[in-house]
Amino acid sequence: MSDPTDAPRSHGRLSIRPSLQPRELGGPPVLKGAWQARIVTLFPEAFPGTLGLSLTGKALEMGLWSLETIDLRPFGEGRHRNVDDNPAGGGAGMVLRADIVARALDAASVGTPPERSRWPVVYLSPRGKPFSQAMARDWAGAEGLTLLCGRFEGVDQRVLDAYAVEEVSLGDFVLTGGEIAAQALIDATVRLIPRVLGNHASTEEESFSEGLLEFPQYTRPTVWQDRAIPEVLLSGHHAKIARWRRAEAERLTKERRPDLWRAYCAARGRDPDEDREL
Ligand code: SAH
Repeated sequence: MSDPTDAPRSHGRLSIRPSLQPRELGGPPVLKGAWQARIVTLFPEAFPGTLGLSLTGKALEMGLWSLETIDLRPFGEGRHRNVDDNPAGGGAGMVLRADIVARALDAASVGTPPERSRWPVVYLSPRGKPFSQAMARDWAGAEGLTLLCGRFEGVDQRVLDAYAVEEVSLGDFVLTGGEIAAQALIDATVRLIPRVLGNHASTEEESFSEGLLEFPQYTRPTVWQDRAIPEVLLSGHHAKIARWRRAEAERLTKERRPDLWRAYCAARGRDPDEDREL
C-alpha cells in the first residue's frame, strides 16, 4: 500500500484529502468532509485514549472523523517552554498564559471556517454551560470542533474573550485537566455522525433524544437469581412493548429528573402531576 496521505484519490465514493500535518505512514486516511476534532492540550499522549476503542475507534480508522492534537508546550517561552505564570492578584496555582494559548489556537485554526457556528471553539471549564445531548447534536452537524483543555487554575480570561471561546462544563465537579472532559464531549458528538454507530444505530430511542430517560433494558437469561424479565418484553407484541417502554421511560424520568419531566410535559401540553394508568 502506498502512503495514505497521497491525495487526492478515490476510496470508494469518497476521496481522501491530505491532512494538515503529515501523518505517519500507515496512519488513518481522512475522508473528504469528515468531521474533525482539534485538541489543544499539554498532554497530547492522552489522545485518542478511549476514543480509539470500539465504535469511535473503528470510525476513526475508517476516516469517518479525524482527531488532531496541538501540543501547547512548544508554544511556550524560554528554555523550559513555560506556558503558565502566577495568577494576577495572587493566590495558589498557575494560569495558562493568554499569548501562548493564542498561538496554539492560531495553529489549530489553520484551514477552519471563522464562523463559530460552523466550527465551535470550546474551552472545557467547570464554569461553562453544562454539556447536553442537544449540544452534541449541534456539534455533530458542524464541520469540526476545536477544544482547549485547561490545566492548573485555568486559562487567562483575555484569550477566551478575544477568540470568542465558548465555555462548556462536563458537570458540577472539578477535574485536574480538560482532557477527560474533551474525550467525553467528543465521544458524545462523534457517535451522532452518520455511519459511526453502523448497525448499532439506536440514537433515536435512547436517553434524552425525546427528553426522557431510557426505559430499563434486559437480555438473557430470562430468569436470573429468581428475577424474571418483564413478561411483556417476551410477548412479541410490538405495540404493547412500545407502550410499556414509554410508560417506564416516563416513570423513571418523573422519579429521577423532575426538571426533564416538567419540560417534557410542557412540550406536550400535559399536566406533570397527573397519574396515568398503563
Ligand atoms: N480553577 C478552576 C478549575 C481549574 S481545573 C475553577 O475553579 O473553575 C483545571 C482544568 O480542568 C480546567 O481549566 C478545565 O479545562 C478542566 N476542568 C475541570 N473541571 C471541569 C469540568 N467540570 N468540566 C470541564 N472541564 C473541567
